[in-house]
Amino acid sequence: MAIKQFKTESKRLLDLMANSIYTNTDIFLRELISNASDALDKRYYQSLTDSGISADDLKITIRVNKDERTLVISDNGIGMNKEDLDNNLGTIAKSGSFEFKQEIEDKKDDVDIIGQFGVGFYSAFMVADKVTVISKKAGEEKAYSWVSENQEGYEIKVAKKEDEGTEITLHIKPDTKEKNYSDYLDKGNIKSLVKKYSDYIRYPIILLDDESETLNSMVPIWKKNKKDIKDEDYDSFYQQEYFDFEKPLKTIHYKVEGNTSYTALLYIPAVVPYNYYSADYKLGLKLYSRGVFIKDEAKEIVSDYFRFVRGVVDSDDLNLNISREILQQDHQMNVLKKSIDKKIKTTLENMLKNERETYEKFFDAFGIQLKNGVYERYGMNKDVLIDLILFKSSLDDKYVSLKEYVERMKEGQEDIYYASGESIEKIKKLPQMEKVLDKGFEVLYLTDNIDEFMLSVIGNYAGKNFKSISKGDLDLDSEEEKKEVEEKAASNKDLLDAIKEILKDKVAEIRLSNRLKSQPVCLVSGDELSFEMEAVLNELNKADYHARRILEINPDHELFSALKKTFDEKGDISDYAMLLYDQASLMAGLSIDDSVEYSKRLGRIMLKAMK
Ligand code: ADP
Repeated sequence: MAIKQFKTESKRLLDLMANSIYTNTDIFLRELISNASDALDKRYYQSLTDSGISADDLKITIRVNKDERTLVISDNGIGMNKEDLDNNLGTIAKSGSFEFKQEIEDKKDDVDIIGQFGVGFYSAFMVADKVTVISKKAGEEKAYSWVSENQEGYEIKVAKKEDEGTEITLHIKPDTKEKNYSDYLDKGNIKSLVKKYSDYIRYPIILLDDESETLNSMVPIWKKNKKDIKDEDYDSFYQQEYFDFEKPLKTIHYKVEGNTSYTALLYIPAVVPYNYYSADYKLGLKLYSRGVFIKDEAKEIVSDYFRFVRGVVDSDDLNLNISREILQQDHQMNVLKKSIDKKIKTTLENMLKNERETYEKFFDAFGIQLKNGVYERYGMNKDVLIDLILFKSSLDDKYVSLKEYVERMKEGQEDIYYASGESIEKIKKLPQMEKVLDKGFEVLYLTDNIDEFMLSVIGNYAGKNFKSISKGDLDLDSEEEKKEVEEKAASNKDLLDAIKEILKDKVAEIRLSNRLKSQPVCLVSGDELSFEMEAVLNELNKADYHARRILEINPDHELFSALKKTFDEKGDISDYAMLLYDQASLMAGLSIDDSVEYSKRLGRIMLKAMK
């Protein structure tokens, strides 16, 4: 028979393959093994209805011949006759192939595309310059060979083959400067490629050698029946896969059937991987399709805010087949992602409800990730995540969710109170805390940098606004109390004006306040930026953000009376006013503007006191 030309479309794809614009040539082996596995499946199914066809000892074998530079992959599957060889290997037969090819050409730079979706038989030409296929179809007499050299075309001839099935011989390309093709003649390398990409193929993959061995473990743990898996099996799979010394905090093994069918074995780690918040961190989710490895770090199938989740997703629907349209694949990925996200979310919700201690442990580890998830993308995902966020609070220093906070709010309480600071200890000592607590309100402690930014995108919860005890007007007072302060401010106008004049470069406003109890002063910020946000933004952006500073003075404190007395009698109170401002700054967690001046001032006052 004369040499036949490949169909034009196939030819162009073949050129792409042969000139291997893709870096990951390894995947040819996965593709050929996957085809062999399909052929074994087909034989098996046919044997169920056709008594003339046996299905014993179905297997895939691999043989390496270094001297001849050949790699041979055989199966005793369904096999192909002359027409099959012509139809299946001479053309990209299936629908959708054209679009796919177009995608590849459009995305030449996107080297990942093949790694993700598979390209089938033609990938052999990434590593071989000549491919020989000898096949005998199950139940038929004659065997045929299909040979293609340098992708010029192919030739089909009658051939000799004892057993039914297919044998594919790759004549491995000579090594080049860029690529050591001889790697594919190295048994150790072949072993590890099979292990990596085809470990869970259901049929044995045997490397023929002096002592032949089965390379794959065949039944993946996630495909086993839940009741046949012990906790320690789950744990050791996790620990081996992810090199984690700790057992996972939570194991989620489930199966979905319906529009998208898949099995997933997901893990929530107990501890934060050391590089979790750095760019080095690799997402620990692997994607398989019917036992065939497709890719790791499969960020397409889980939302970024759940990126701590590790494990395996094995889809029944994702087709490795080139003939599937890539857009459809994207769609499938999205459907998968939605379903996986949802499962993780409900797992966490149930954990919060039923296993509080475990959830809090989880939150200690990955709470910041969830908070970032709320904040990112302008709060686009806040509704998904908001009820998974916990805060420590003044009630008992324990975690509380916003839902729980609102449920136990005091009667008549309008707002959700919070205070931010470096640590809970420091927040507790804020001068403005006392009054709020006296009134019986619960205060959320915000100690992570992201916290206030997160609240700003949440806006409100269950119709309640968030109120910082260190910002603007807290509005805790009754009308009567307010009036009282106004009167005091009016009768102390001269004094307050004098202080304002002294501190005019430091603070935007000075006012008497009911916010304080045992402390004489406190520094609060305007409604927009808090001092903590100011610090975070300046650190991140190397910028000079400035929160509005308001000095609040406690009119009922004895220092205020003393100050008034000194002002009335002596007039000069600048050292005292400055010192009060410095004290307020320190208590607010800020540093003193000029510490040398501060020391001198304090020295003068000490001398006076000791005279
Ligand atoms: P596909 O994605 O459809 O597997 P391929 O290009 O890999 O595309 O293969 C084309 C067709 O060739 C397959 O659909 C199958 O019918 C046939 N084929 C490939 N390899 C084998 C094999 N080892 N045994 C039997 N048939 C095979």
